[in-house]
Amino acid sequence: MTELYGAIEAGGTKFVCAVGSNPEDLTEVRFSTTSPSEALARAIAFFDSYRGRLAGLGVGSFGPIDLDRASPRYGYITSTPKPGWSNTDVVGTLANALDIPVAFDTDVNAAALAEGRWGAGVGLTDFIYLTIGTGIGGGVICNGRVVHGMMHPELGHSFLAKHPEDTYRGRCPFHGDACFEGLAAGPAIEERWQKAGIDLVEDHPAWALQAHYVAQALVNFICTLSPQKIILGGGVMEQQHLLSRVKAKTHQLLNGYIQAEPLLSDIDSYIVVPDLGNQAGVLGGFVLAEALLGIDER
Ligand code: ZN
Repeated sequence: MTELYGAIEAGGTKFVCAVGSNPEDLTEVRFSTTSPSEALARAIAFFDSYRGRLAGLGVGSFGPIDLDRASPRYGYITSTPKPGWSNTDVVGTLANALDIPVAFDTDVNAAALAEGRWGAGVGLTDFIYLTIGTGIGGGVICNGRVVHGMMHPELGHSFLAKHPEDTYRGRCPFHGDACFEGLAAGPAIEERWQKAGIDLVEDHPAWALQAHYVAQALVNFICTLSPQKIILGGGVMEQQHLLSRVKAKTHQLLNGYIQAEPLLSDIDSYIVVPDLGNQAGVLGGFVLAEALLGIDER
């Protein structure tokens, strides 16, 4: 019998809550990420109507988060720049209210797990899921497992070389214009050009600059992590022309140094969009819940 799980993608902009077990079996609700008390109460109210029927709940959250089970703040969102959300006990609040096992990881790790199970990462042991939207984050699958290490990777705060003609002061509250997110997340694009990305025409200089930063980051990740594939999601990447620019710029920056397939001859199959679209994160909640209950050990 297929177990029924709850899943939450707790994003910086929206919460997605779902009940089900896979992409074909899923009922979801979406709402804005308002205050912690309000958003968590809405999530609890949704799952409460399935009380007694859920085997577990998997939560993929924006971060940074505390994943150290020995820590008194395990299950918390910790030092986030998002107003009101620092030191929020996500797992404790949900587990106490719903009385079911709660699995916890980053939103991007959850999305990476879902893409590995049902999407663009099927059959691969090493790949990256990177999202560029309100923030920038990445989940890394290495040897078939999601990388945690000391905490979890923070690909979005990798430092990049600033373009010599870019005078923008940057937007990361921790790193200003030094890091990927500070230079290239959606809010940075909007502040730099005084216009939302969605309103910038295809030949606007914003996009060459954006490709410059995204490609630099990809080159760093390719050289440090040697992924078999890079899955690029998030609102900013929904512009098709940007994906082409990123591929071309990545190829240019690597300058023939990495002689491996499919990067070398088929970059279109190497840098791809998520197969699961904007459901990758919440579907990852099902994978996390399964893993917590020992049903799947990926
Ligand atoms: Zn930063």
